[in-house]
Amino acid sequence: MKAEEKRHKPLKQQNKIKIFRYICQHPEATKQSLTYHLNMSMPTVLQNIKELAEAGLVEEQGVLASTGGRRAKTISVVRDARYALGADITANHISLVLLDLSGSITAQTRIAKPYADETEYYQFFGTLVSSFIADHQVPAEKLLGIGVSLPGNIDVDHDLITQSHVLHVYQINLQKFRQFLPCDAIFCNDANAAGLAELNHIEDTAVLLSLGYTVGGAIFVHRQLYFGELYKGGEFGHMILIPDGKTCYCGKNGCVDAYCSSKVLSDLAEGSLPLFFERLEQQEEACTEAWDAYLRYLAIAVTNLRSAFDCPIILGGDVGGYLESYLPRLKRLAARYNTFDPNSDYLSLCHSPKESFALGAGLQFIEAFYDTVI
Ligand SMILES: [Zn+2]
Repeated sequence: MKAEEKRHKPLKQQNKIKIFRYICQHPEATKQSLTYHLNMSMPTVLQNIKELAEAGLVEEQGVLASTGGRRAKTISVVRDARYALGADITANHISLVLLDLSGSITAQTRIAKPYADETEYYQFFGTLVSSFIADHQVPAEKLLGIGVSLPGNIDVDHDLITQSHVLHVYQINLQKFRQFLPCDAIFCNDANAAGLAELNHIEDTAVLLSLGYTVGGAIFVHRQLYFGELYKGGEFGHMILIPDGKTCYCGKNGCVDAYCSSKVLSDLAEGSLPLFFERLEQQEEACTEAWDAYLRYLAIAVTNLRSAFDCPIILGGDVGGYLESYLPRLKRLAARYNTFDPNSDYLSLCHSPKESFALGAGLQFIEAFYDTVI
């Protein structure tokens, strides 16, 4: 739903959506915390909880541990009232996740399956999704749909993958996937999906830099994804970092991707990023040197993004999952390149580095459902 449409909903409907969203995102919500955090009157909160309970979407549950005085019952989302699926398609794997109505992952699977633009592949994917639904006994009437993350530019208006260097394809009609899927499907770029997985932690405007096997990004303006005119927005991996530098898979030289993808690191440890960080911990010289260089390049990329967007920057992707103990050092390096932000507090790490692509893709259906509870 567009921000414009949201703003034009009558206040009563907006209140109900806000209350439902809050309950879904706060497992310990109480009537009191709803009135306080949403700045609504108790009668408004009670009436909406009643309507949501009648629709089978929320329920009163248990009691919070009391520190004296009256105990408050928690209001919880009925997690199995609806489900969504998320999928992450890469060059060599397919991941699937099952999300409940709170947006939590309740089941997942990952299998090796090289992508090929062939009917056999699309059929395989459809069958895999159907089996996953059957294995987890998801009733068809409770399934909202499947969000599919792909490593490429997606033109949602024309239902196309316009190009994917990673999958080596151009102008792929997404109907090729849809025809074998048992439910509604939304397709999105992988870095945008990773950004959507962070949406609960984005207050207004933010940029995500995804440091995966390839480097991508997502731009959120007022919590809405900014795609750009031709759906190429946020392709931070292909900003030039070093003129005439290392060759990038896109065909250019010196791209951020050639210096900041996880591949740069995993190539030094038999293709395994966990092994690279183990060796780094053991201070193996080759890994230490590569990591020093990696952080320096990353600091420059981050500083450039900060200069362009002047908003919080979230680091995600595979490498983002390992950055916690190195973040202070990265912040110091970034500060060295940026005279405007001496403490680099605009930098943070993503909350769900694991399966963030499939999670973010699937969350689109959950998010959209929140807006329908009017
Ligand atoms: Zn490139």
